[in-house]
Amino acid sequence: MQKKLISIPYDHPGAGNQSACSTAQAWASQPRDPQPEEKAALIERIKRMLKEQDAVLVAHYYVNSDLQDLAEATGGYVSDSLDMAKFGNEHPARTIVVAGVRFMGETAKILNPEKRVLMPDLEANCSLDLGCPADEFVAFCDAHPDRTVVVYANTSAAVKARADWMVTSSIALPIVKHLKEQGKKILWAPDRHLGRYIQEQTDADMLLWQGSCVVHDEFKMNALEEMMAAHPTAKVLVHPESPRSIVALADVVGSTTQLINASQKMDAQEFIVATDNGILHKMRTLSPHKLFLEAPTRGYGANCISCNHCPWMAMNGLLNLAEVLEKGHNEIHVDRAVGERAKVSIQRMLDFARQINLPGKNLGNA
Ligand code: SF4
Repeated sequence: MQKKLISIPYDHPGAGNQSACSTAQAWASQPRDPQPEEKAALIERIKRMLKEQDAVLVAHYYVNSDLQDLAEATGGYVSDSLDMAKFGNEHPARTIVVAGVRFMGETAKILNPEKRVLMPDLEANCSLDLGCPADEFVAFCDAHPDRTVVVYANTSAAVKARADWMVTSSIALPIVKHLKEQGKKILWAPDRHLGRYIQEQTDADMLLWQGSCVVHDEFKMNALEEMMAAHPTAKVLVHPESPRSIVALADVVGSTTQLINASQKMDAQEFIVATDNGILHKMRTLSPHKLFLEAPTRGYGANCISCNHCPWMAMNGLLNLAEVLEKGHNEIHVDRAVGERAKVSIQRMLDFARQINLPGKNLGNA
């Protein structure tokens, strides 16, 4: 196991002092990459165990390419978190194995309470989730009872249980527009960049929790401008969890699924991609003749953790996936009452998506 110490700085209005900076730390334990000959045998073993255990593997776009390929090769699925959960819900398998981060496993469990949900590593988390502790968030909501609470998918079950709506990045805009038309004031959590982007697009009254993603927060404007100058025909694809200075340089701003669609549909031959580099596997598979470059995280303001890959997504590997299937451990449990309340905010979004005819594959998220 390789271990990497991650510091998650966040200051948020729920802490009572907006300038106070708290630091959360997590050890991201990344499984070793197996040798080629070991890998082939491991993949065969995992395929066999998935079948024997009536299990289906669903993987996020940000996990390593071996897991994405394995999910697709075994009748599983590669997508964003909500679609992963919806797929698990529609698939007849009794066990869902989620290769992603903790909130994705929880969402799968909330939507599929009768199924067994396993994850390669239960410590795989998310800085947005960690930066929005449920008790502080509940206090923040209680202090603003006049606001409709809208939370991003990247939150714990307990935070979703306090929310009126859960949203993903591609449906956040229409939902906030809809709430604004109803005269609602909004309390948004946890990603401040996505919240600000939506606020600017909709002009809604939004009070923002000040969380951020450790990957998207690291993209550097000056270095991106230099890269754009060196690749003048390249189109810039940006996830809205990125800072405003990066979003301002984008040709397309969108969720993971929207960015993948854009990379396929646009005529350009070169793309600069400002989101986790795990997404490049899908983009390159769909458009092998195009060039995909990672937006820079190096440059002025960079620190020792600046990189384009989520340390928690990197905790998913073939070795710990095989171990989980073998031993049946790392099961996700969500308190039933919390899960039922959280499901209300998720279901509200799903119903809205159906009304505006936005099918699951377009809902997207981090
Ligand atoms: S990439 Fe960012 S938003 Fe996605 S799981 Fe990692 S820390 Fe969370």
